Amino acid sequence: MANLPKILVIFGTRPEAIKLFPVIHALRQAGGLTVRTCVTAQHRDLLDQVLSIAGIVPDIDLDLMEPGQSLDRLTARLLTGLGDVMDAERPDRVIVQGDTATAMVGALAAYYRRIPVSHVEAGLRSGDIWQPWPEEVNRKIVGTIADQHFAPTETATDALRRENVEPSSIHVTGNTVIDALFATRDRIASDPALAAGLDPVAHRFADKRLILVTTHRRENFGSGMESIARAIAQIADRDDVAILFPMHPNPNVTGVMDRLIGERGNLARIDPLDYPHFIRALELCHLVLTDSGGVQEEAPALGKPVLVMRETTERPEGVAAGTAKLVGTDADRIVAEVSALLDDAAGYRAMAHAHNPFGDGQAANRIANVVARSLRDAVGRRA
Ligand code: UDP
Repeated sequence: MANLPKILVIFGTRPEAIKLFPVIHALRQAGGLTVRTCVTAQHRDLLDQVLSIAGIVPDIDLDLMEPGQSLDRLTARLLTGLGDVMDAERPDRVIVQGDTATAMVGALAAYYRRIPVSHVEAGLRSGDIWQPWPEEVNRKIVGTIADQHFAPTETATDALRRENVEPSSIHVTGNTVIDALFATRDRIASDPALAAGLDPVAHRFADKRLILVTTHRRENFGSGMESIARAIAQIADRDDVAILFPMHPNPNVTGVMDRLIGERGNLARIDPLDYPHFIRALELCHLVLTDSGGVQEEAPALGKPVLVMRETTERPEGVAAGTAKLVGTDADRIVAEVSALLDDAAGYRAMAHAHNPFGDGQAANRIANVVARSLRDAVGRRA
């Protein structure tokens, strides 16, 4: 083992774990590498749910989550924590995913040690550093440091080219979220018990059209979240729909929802779902209302119209494909767009055609191949 090239995969949140577990499995399958995983646990509970389902036991667990911690405090703790890990592990390459503080700081700590960085889900850009905040800047920093950019789509590739990223360092792979989705859907199909917790919900709302809602974006905290809450309450006034709302545990979300949405028979506010249950919820629902990044990618792959409660998106592919629509956070607009989809069967059908612009489920293998080859070459040159 000692002479094998070593790769350190770093992540901290639920969406990173979902998008990296296929990559970790593919790297392990590629063979000839030592694959180490380090979690920072930016959101402990949500992360652990995914790890256990994906069968990944992290080699290093920094457990850096502190309630209500500021971005600068989190960033400082990540930098010293991840720096120490890199000094102890001395990896030949670091892999980070997406646009979290963990990804940004992981790339920076690697750069300080001249360790090359691979970026999974590279090239997503909204063009506005305040939306999403602070993710747009996080991913630009990672993009500046990385020497392997795994872009999910041609659109992401173009964004990197516009920033003068060396073209040979960009690899269009598809998004690993589709790998995770397909793998999990197959697992549920062969073992329905994995997502059976939703059976009572499906039964209870069998005569209604189910709207799946998620919201957690930092830039929506405050007035945006209040507006979203008012919209949800108004939509729930319709008796032909039911709302399934797995609520992010952030107090900026729960506090507003507690205050502005009362109890209603057709509104199920529930704890965050584990990943197989969430995929099942996507399958069961009629439409999706979300400000999430990952959900914007998953819903089109399952033919579910998705209304995005944001002003901009770094995932224009879903909008271009006609399966996603940006609706912002104005309550009246959200209600009007949801009503339009509910009441206009032709409009609904036009959005609901299953079209998946985000990948073919083979992204992780492509990434693992590139990473493994480059590491073997680099270590071979050193020998
Ligand atoms: N997700 C989940 N349970 C939930 C809500 C979402 O497993 O209750 C998954 C979802 O399938 C998607 C990911 O979490 O892959 C999205 O995470 P989130 O919306 O927290 O973050 P973002 O994608 O916006 O960074």
